[in-house]
Amino acid sequence: MTEATPNVDMEKLVSLCRRRGFVFPSSEIYGGLSSSWDYGPLGVELKRNIKEAWWRAVIRERDDMVGLDTSILMNRKVWEASGHLERMVDPLVECKNCHQRWRADELGEPKCPSCGGDLTEERMFNVMFKTFAGPVEEEASVVYLRPETAQGIFVNFQNVLNTTRKRLPFGIAQIGKSFRNEITTGNFIFRSREFEQMEIEYFIKPGTDEEWFEYWLKERLQWYVTHGIKREHLDTYEHPEEKLAHYAKRCCDVIYKFPMGWAELEGIANRGDYDLKQHTAVSGKSLEYYDAATNEHFIPYVIEPSAGVDRSALAFLADAYTEEPDKDELRVLLRFHPDIAPLKVAVLPLSRKENLAAYARDVYADLRREWRVEFDDTQSIGRRYRRQDEIGTPFCVTVDFQSLEDNRVTIRERDTMNQIRVPISELKTTLSAKLGGEDLFVLPPGGEIWKVEKEADSA
Ligand SMILES: [Zn+2]
Repeated sequence: MTEATPNVDMEKLVSLCRRRGFVFPSSEIYGGLSSSWDYGPLGVELKRNIKEAWWRAVIRERDDMVGLDTSILMNRKVWEASGHLERMVDPLVECKNCHQRWRADELGEPKCPSCGGDLTEERMFNVMFKTFAGPVEEEASVVYLRPETAQGIFVNFQNVLNTTRKRLPFGIAQIGKSFRNEITTGNFIFRSREFEQMEIEYFIKPGTDEEWFEYWLKERLQWYVTHGIKREHLDTYEHPEEKLAHYAKRCCDVIYKFPMGWAELEGIANRGDYDLKQHTAVSGKSLEYYDAATNEHFIPYVIEPSAGVDRSALAFLADAYTEEPDKDELRVLLRFHPDIAPLKVAVLPLSRKENLAAYARDVYADLRREWRVEFDDTQSIGRRYRRQDEIGTPFCVTVDFQSLEDNRVTIRERDTMNQIRVPISELKTTLSAKLGGEDLFVLPPGGEIWKVEKEADSA
């Protein structure tokens, strides 16, 4: 359970992310803020693609799911009902010598890991961020930044039911920021105090929960594989019963072989009827479901697949990272699945000469209507290819002087470096097919194989 992904160590990944503009330390010019990160020009594209792929899979391609976007600040009673006020606590200890704080349940010995000093007695520390709504900082105006997006879904259960006429089983999904004042953070973007979640609450008839649990576990595991994560780098971890969260009947994580070892990527929880029951009790509003077929009133059970956007980004980066020998050097590439890759295509004119540049700019203007495309006319073509490999761009389109005469351009594939040459009139449909997974050497009318570096591999 500790063997890390063989592809890359964390230091290399952090360095690439920073050098190429995926992730920067937050407020860096002021010395940063511990465990806070900013997504750069490529990181934001990567993250948007992950969220888009998730939204497409769990909402757009299904007829039993709808989306929501609920607020981060909620009525305090929500957290009273959900149990977070009372139970979202970690045991905190402080070193009497150096005053560093630690989570007692994560320490092997009752000594300070930093200086070996004695520790204070444990006290319970609530990890919800607290602030004040309105101009008066008093107890009555205390609000919390949500520690999970799930509760926004539960409190809107009746609203969704009434406005969409969905019948069980059906689910509600949302993507959004959540906040936890973790005592220990770290491992780059794996654990930070501000993070983004992709959560589903799937409402079902009591008694069908075990089978829906299995369904969602399988479904969610497959989603990562479909989008390029190697199956052997994924596994599941069943939480022992005595360690389950207060709301859960069962919890199983999808775990990934991160650079620092196996760790949770997504949690699938059977929350039973805990949340809707609690909100019914505290709000006094009925959150029952009426089943017209059986004439029954009941509170649905819920299965919750809860994924982290930032963790997913780290997993996609780590899994895509590849180093391979290339002549005398080392080629670094990110083998992203095309749906996840920040840029889909780069347009590279072979020279900056005016007529060629203008031609290439037209190609670029046309392609960027379809995809996130980059135009790059700096440096040698070899270095430009290398840069695109390193940021994971699946295809480069090269415009050369011959293009001006034959109206054809070359397409270079990132993973094999093989090239084909296609008529400009076929460029868009060809790229579209290749981004959809078609073999590079399947040629459009008027196309030809241009350069074979190596046989295509299936990795
Ligand atoms: Zn200490």
